[in-house]
Amino acid sequence: MTINTAPANEVFNAAELASEESRASATPMMEQYIEIKAANPDSLLFYRMGDFYELFFEDAVEASRALGITLTKRGQHLGHDIPMCGVPVHAADDYLQKLIARGFRVAVCEQVEDPAEAKKRGSKSVVRRDVVRLVTPGTLTEEKLLSPSETNYLMALARIRGGSTPLLALAWIDISTGIFRLAETDEGRLLADILRIEPRELIVPDTLFHDPELKPAFDVLGRVVVPQPGVLFDSATAETRLARYFGVGTLDGFGSFSRAEIAAAAAAVAYVEKTQISERPALGLPERQSASSTLFIDPATRANLELVKTLSGDRNGSLLKAIDRTVTGGGARLLAERLMSPLTEPAAISARQDSIAFMLSESALCEQLHDALKRVPDMPRALSRLALDRGGPRDLGAILYGLASAREVGERLAGMLLPDELAAAVEDLAALPASVGELLASMLEDDLPLLKRDGGFLREGAIPELDEIRALRDQSRRVIAGLQLQYAEETGIKSLKIKHNNVLGYFIEVTAGNAGAMTEGEAAKARFIHRQTMASAMRFTTTELADLESRIANAAGQALTIELEAFDRMLAAVVAAAEPIKAAARALAIIDVAAGLATLAEEQGYCRPLVDDSRMFAIVAGRHPVVEQALRRQAASPFIANDCNLSPDGSDDTGAIWLLTGPNMGGKSTFLRQNALIAIMAQMGSFVPAGSAHIGIVDRLFSRVGASDDLARGRSTFMVEMVETAAILNQATDRSLVILDEIGRGTATFDGLSIAWAAVEHLHEVNRCRSLFATHFHELTVLSEKLLRLSNVTMRVKEWDGDVIFLHEVGPGAADRSYGIQVARLAGLPASVVSRARDVLTRLEDADRKNPASSLIDDLPLFQVAVRREEALKSGPSKVEEALKTLDLDDMTPRQALDALYDLKKQLGKS
Ligand code: ATP
Repeated sequence: MTINTAPANEVFNAAELASEESRASATPMMEQYIEIKAANPDSLLFYRMGDFYELFFEDAVEASRALGITLTKRGQHLGHDIPMCGVPVHAADDYLQKLIARGFRVAVCEQVEDPAEAKKRGSKSVVRRDVVRLVTPGTLTEEKLLSPSETNYLMALARIRGGSTPLLALAWIDISTGIFRLAETDEGRLLADILRIEPRELIVPDTLFHDPELKPAFDVLGRVVVPQPGVLFDSATAETRLARYFGVGTLDGFGSFSRAEIAAAAAAVAYVEKTQISERPALGLPERQSASSTLFIDPATRANLELVKTLSGDRNGSLLKAIDRTVTGGGARLLAERLMSPLTEPAAISARQDSIAFMLSESALCEQLHDALKRVPDMPRALSRLALDRGGPRDLGAILYGLASAREVGERLAGMLLPDELAAAVEDLAALPASVGELLASMLEDDLPLLKRDGGFLREGAIPELDEIRALRDQSRRVIAGLQLQYAEETGIKSLKIKHNNVLGYFIEVTAGNAGAMTEGEAAKARFIHRQTMASAMRFTTTELADLESRIANAAGQALTIELEAFDRMLAAVVAAAEPIKAAARALAIIDVAAGLATLAEEQGYCRPLVDDSRMFAIVAGRHPVVEQALRRQAASPFIANDCNLSPDGSDDTGAIWLLTGPNMGGKSTFLRQNALIAIMAQMGSFVPAGSAHIGIVDRLFSRVGASDDLARGRSTFMVEMVETAAILNQATDRSLVILDEIGRGTATFDGLSIAWAAVEHLHEVNRCRSLFATHFHELTVLSEKLLRLSNVTMRVKEWDGDVIFLHEVGPGAADRSYGIQVARLAGLPASVVSRARDVLTRLEDADRKNPASSLIDDLPLFQVAVRREEALKSGPSKVEEALKTLDLDDMTPRQALDALYDLKKQLGKS
């Protein structure tokens, strides 16, 4: 394959093509092309011609570049060559995958009438074509275009104005599995809510696309956001449109939704209809998610904690990758969803933990289930392709094998005393109608072709009539073999062969040298009809052979018709059972997740955390789930477990702050992150990497770890740090967990120290949340004298011969230094620089000893006092000040002035 650049001559863009002049001079086929392209200006147009999808003009140039395929030309338009490239229909999925990954949208245009019909309208008439589907990132169903372990959400955002605050709502649909959910949101949490769901495509009304308040969120999301006409989001008609889609008179039976939610849901459904054109995916009924039922994780925290991908965008190295032991696509997707949206209800969390505990107590059964689950194909995705009439025999096969595994899994668990979550799953498995599985099992062949049009997917004995036709076909093949022998004997040509190709069908072939025996003599001439002369061979047929050929062709046609009819019957049976099949698939995913998390807990030695409504955060022997596994893989020294206790001290119900100091490379970041990850894992219902853990529900999790800049949005590293810190200090509640790593490092020492100082005080006095605060500002450790719930802890090190040895142990106390210079030496800084740095450090430390920042604790009033003073200033002049203002000093005797002064002093004493 060659990569081409654009041709030298002009390439018309969509607008130029649609011009009157362009249309007037187009050939009939180009006229049709231009018309269809004009209706789909944002998409590449795959224009079906025979066995290829062809692309023309600008589309061809862009696609050839993106796909690395040859750019050719086809005729001329307005005096210029028409650039063209094409992809074979049978390989279209591969090309679509590349185009979608590169951010293109594709309109697939098919021939929608038989060419014979078109011919009836005149020899020059063009076959009617129409776009049958828009392929966009959020509306994919093909196996090749989807990752088995990831959801593929299309999301719609709607805003309703009314009352003082506008209402925002999100609706998200995965048409590859039928999941459909809704939630209200607000401007503050919009981005966090969107990132929690990670849609592939977010449609927004074009009026909102440039809204200055929402634009910052859209900028982060980039090309995921697609503006759409406002009518899709029209709230006045939304309810009726939704009800129509689900074939119901009213939405009352679905639950209660707000107007904004209904508008978002109707928009999402309208977009699905717009992209799928004539087909309707089997969507589940919309389910509402309330904001308070999930742990709020702000976008920066989500990224920094590397939950489902690392900061560099890699799935390897993420928490998800480290904890995923599921064996089915559905299980992997459910696990990712749980990790992205941990719960805030202790009872719901405990129900999930019960399932894991059950699997752990039945480890042999758990292994058997895992084995059975390994064979489970992706039923929901196969089902959705079938419902969209895009499925093939292998999708029916997926349902067949999925149902068989579902039965096996259900039978293994039947009759056991199960925890609620698993009991409900087993009920769903038992509710599967047996008839669909039986029908498919009686019909489908073991080895299935990809496409139904190739036939051969029905097993012997499925349909007697088909067996007869197949017998005739096989028999005919034997007859042909017999004929070949007979003709060879008759003509005495031993090398005579009967062959087949698509142009001639069956024919007799002899070498040119032997052809005489077939062409000489009246009898031979009458028997062997000449078809073709080649350079070295001649080809003939006979009436017998032609007759046999038509019988074989008829048989093949009849067989295919029978197979396609049977396919439709099976399809109808599967689609009719879509709901129980989806419920069973979900049940299998739940069982897979429970078995997977149990396997993980067993293998890694995790414990069941106690999660309740308290403000506790007591982790004993906690570990970092990702670093621990990485160290083990590298056979490095084992991970050192550490405790963390941010629980209230008993005097009131307010959590504590740990101020963590310690050397560079000592393990501070690892410790901070591991505690955040343990909280997330606990609330997603998993066991956690710790000896024991007691966690009071966290409502919001914030973390500021690691440095990054956002130069594209004009924000320096320090600015990003401050924006994130501001979000935390403004939003954290007394139920939140806050992890702060090195606040104030990106600016001058005193600026940074002051900001860190004030932030710690704010967390302690105002937010009153459980916090871990790591810092290199050792000066901050004096705060523990004044802030009652703040404790100093440090990463312990040993010094040995001038070198530092990191123990990775967290212990009480404060580090007296950062060992930055030792770490710099380990990193290979030139010896001269290291030695000079030592000199400079000694001098700086001497200067600091004379004028230590720790004196601040005595000099500075505490945060609350400072706040009160500021508030007092804001609330206007005091009584003494008012009284002072009224005094007219020029009109007073010295005695009166002295009395007034005494009076003022008295008033001051009172206030
Ligand atoms: P800096 O202040 O330079 O950012 P840090 O104190 O945040 O350093 P980390 O990045 O957390 O240090 O840890 C440094 C390395 O130490 C990690 O890459 C990890 O491999 C190792 N490490 C951290 N914690 C532990 C632990 N508990 N047990 C074993 N190894 C650990």
